[in-house]
Amino acid sequence: MTRFIKPMLASLALSSLLALPAHAELDVAKLKSTIASSLESDYPKLDALYKDIHAHPELAFQEEKTAARLASEMRAIGFEVTEHVGKTGLVAIYKSGEGPTIMVRTELDALPMEEKTGLPYASHDKALWRGRETFVDHSCGHDIHMASWVGTAKTLLALKDQWHGTLMFIAQPAEEEVQGAKAMLADGLFTRFPKPDAGFALHDGPFTYGYVSYRVGIGSSNQDGLFIKFHGRGGHGAAPQTTIDPVMMAARFVVDVQSVISREKDPTEFGVVSIGAIHAGTAGNIIPDEATVVGTIRTYKPQVRAKMLAGIERTAKAVAAMADAPAPEIHLEAGAKAIMNDPAVVGSAEKVLKVAFGDKFNATPPGTASEDYSEFIDAGVPSMFFNIGIYDPERVAAARNGGPPLPGNHSPLFAPVPKPTIETGVTAMTLAVLSAFDQRAQGQ
Ligand SMILES: [Zn+2]
Ligand SMILES: [Zn+2]
Repeated sequence: MTRFIKPMLASLALSSLLALPAHAELDVAKLKSTIASSLESDYPKLDALYKDIHAHPELAFQEEKTAARLASEMRAIGFEVTEHVGKTGLVAIYKSGEGPTIMVRTELDALPMEEKTGLPYASHDKALWRGRETFVDHSCGHDIHMASWVGTAKTLLALKDQWHGTLMFIAQPAEEEVQGAKAMLADGLFTRFPKPDAGFALHDGPFTYGYVSYRVGIGSSNQDGLFIKFHGRGGHGAAPQTTIDPVMMAARFVVDVQSVISREKDPTEFGVVSIGAIHAGTAGNIIPDEATVVGTIRTYKPQVRAKMLAGIERTAKAVAAMADAPAPEIHLEAGAKAIMNDPAVVGSAEKVLKVAFGDKFNATPPGTASEDYSEFIDAGVPSMFFNIGIYDPERVAAARNGGPPLPGNHSPLFAPVPKPTIETGVTAMTLAVLSAFDQRAQGQ
């Protein structure tokens, strides 16, 4: 615990030089340099935390050690921490006077895949996932988010005279399964703890570090899972006339379903269907009796989503009917909903972040990935979800000029540059939270 006290005192001394009443305009330039000084002393510990979490990732709802590590970090800086909210989630609260409650969320989980970055702190850990052993890798960068989350908490305490109210820092399990936010809400996140007046989350992505991107309105896609099992009649590969071939049905479906996108959906609206897995058969001379296709469906708008789900279902049934097969089993499961960024929360953060980051702060089109942060928004927390870059500018420029492509999230080569990425995360998140306190103090 004592290892945190020294930098904290240094930061507190600095912040007391620029004490402002909460209703004054935020002095962004001054705040930014205070955050930079605070980070200078905090960064070595954040770096160690990041590399430790990176080397020892844990899968969805198995994040016991990761959560325990974050709980002890947050207790050490003075937060009141409740563990096991939504299985492995954490809620860390810090109250400083009367005022709004502002939430900051990080995810805890990693992905079932092998890291191939060759970094000195690369993960070699394995875990059980759906009954089989797999490598585990923080290839979505949730470890960057955790280090930024702890760093933001420390920085906000160092800037305590800049805000009044309650900080609610939550660490969410199982984002990759889009189950963790729901689990925390079902476990009383907004009844056992205060319901936030505003909320923030960030996600890293394959663009230049030091850059922050954001958007008003739709910030991510609706996600639906697709599971279809085609039933045929098994038999000898040399006598297909005695069988009903489910491999043929699966193959036809994979191709034909794309016409729902190209021919049925309005081409100016976003919609994607991708088949990520096909499971059928064993040997080349056996026609199996069933084939399963598993995929994902992404959309922004509810009406586009409804149209696509109907088209996908119709295509699966038609493919089976063509083969004179029984009706297929069709499960289209609703996953994460699209994130809607709140215009007022984004509006006040925008003013502050524009001053702090200049032309490195940009509005961008919505991402096509999905996020279960949308559950907190649906539960009534006006929010801003933004993105931070992770790669060297030279590497990004080279990729743009035909050089090696930049590994994106979920790539085995995904490798953020820790220091500038985490520092940007802490700076942007701290300023965003201060803007929300300031917005509420002004009664905007
Ligand atoms: Zn991910
Ligand atoms: Zn992610």
